[in-house]
Amino acid sequence: MERVYIGLGSNLADPAEQLRNALTALAQLSHSELAGVSSFYVSDSLLPGQPRYTNAVAALDSALEPLALLDALQAIELDQGRERHERWGPRTLDLDIILFGDRVIDEPRLKVPHYHLHARPFVLYPLAELVPNLQLADGRSLNQLLAECPFVGLERL
Ligand code: ATP
Ligand code: MG
Ligand code: MG
Repeated sequence: MERVYIGLGSNLADPAEQLRNALTALAQLSHSELAGVSSFYVSDSLLPGQPRYTNAVAALDSALEPLALLDALQAIELDQGRERHERWGPRTLDLDIILFGDRVIDEPRLKVPHYHLHARPFVLYPLAELVPNLQLADGRSLNQLLAECPFVGLERL
């Protein structure tokens, strides 16, 4: 089993309910155990003109290989009505792999750690609830990233 952190986000069709349904689906994933969930947060959209997002981070212990887990996450997104139109468009559910153990993955379909982790308060602050003293494989600490990413546009529910 490896410890995986998954970022959840939704800004359509009852976002908090979307997250709860996604967490139920994550808890039922094969070869995996849901190990923890952060509080829910509301965040401003990165792009203007969209509804605010509800976000959380989940800890999953999984024996799945990273691409198999990505397939499973994308199946959950589709199950919950995710449609891909414009990039970063509004969505019922986004499930991103933030960290996968200590692995550094650079494949066409999967980059881990998530490329924009350092700039996203709606990922860093919930992640810090689950693992406050996290050290990234590249030597950065979560505390360092938090210090450089103010708690702005974010509200903890
Ligand atoms: P962002 O990646 O900036 O958060 P997004 O989550 O809206 O944007 P999606 O449309 O959900 O982007 O995903 C686009 C593609 O990103 C997916 O098809 C997937 O193959 C790829 N991808 C690369 N790295 C990851 C990752 N760490 N977690 C999830 N998807 C990833
Ligand atoms: Mg995303
Ligand atoms: Mg995504």
